[in-house]
Amino acid sequence: PLPQARGALHLADVTFRYGDGPVILPDLDLAIPAGQTVALVGTTGAGKSTVAKLVTRFYDATQGRVLLDGVDVRDLSTTDLRRAVVMVTQEAYLFSGSVRENIALGRPGAPQEDIEAAARAVGAHDFIMAMPDGYDTEVNKRGGRVSAGQRQLLSFARAFLADPAVLVLDEATSSLDLPGERLVQRGLQTLLADRTAIIIAHRLSTVDIADRVLVMEHGRVIEDGAPADL
Ligand code: ATP
Ligand code: MG
Repeated sequence: PLPQARGALHLADVTFRYGDGPVILPDLDLAIPAGQTVALVGTTGAGKSTVAKLVTRFYDATQGRVLLDGVDVRDLSTTDLRRAVVMVTQEAYLFSGSVRENIALGRPGAPQEDIEAAARAVGAHDFIMAMPDGYDTEVNKRGGRVSAGQRQLLSFARAFLADPAVLVLDEATSSLDLPGERLVQRGLQTLLADRTAIIIAHRLSTVDIADRVLVMEHGRVIEDGAPADL
């Protein structure tokens, strides 16, 4: 059913432990309607990344189910799940290759015009064109000549090209300068439009653009509301 996933998520009574370790998420029930942007915040070790790993099926729930549009993610093919849910992490944004190849990873075989449209959408086109070889400029794993903010925009362009129903973003903790921060924020807003998003948020500005903020502590949601109410 999923190539046109809508992106409604439900962690239905999920209990999770890594192997036979302690319970990390005790009976978490969390429903996220399609299209909602949720910011996950909370202290270190609260379980935020663990939630992300369950939604992306990096791990499966120990008990309970993770549902995407009502379908248990374990019943989806890898292809359907990868198309529906895309994770943008703070590391490993780039591999050694051209800017073009790095963006195209979002949808292998995408034509140049789509790659460029994705870059334009998230606000990456201008700095790419200012690079020595434009889209053919080689970057390396660490980014090379690319700044932290630009790196993040390239990963946004990749995700935009992939166009998943659900976006999971573990926001970079590295600080950006103010123009960089604004650029990333604008790109992020474009990327979030018309899809469900779970953002592990480290920036106040990101919490502000979320529809809903979940504060986690010891694997539980201790606050759940609009940014303005927190
Ligand atoms: P941070 O803000 O530091 O990223 P977090 O909220 O993302 O924290 P998680 O990474 O989800 O927290 O970790 C929740 C708990 O699970 C922690 O106690 C952590 O030690 C444990 N944990 C995380 N990954 C593993 C793993 N691969 N194996 C065993 N325990 C793990
Ligand atoms: Mg984490």
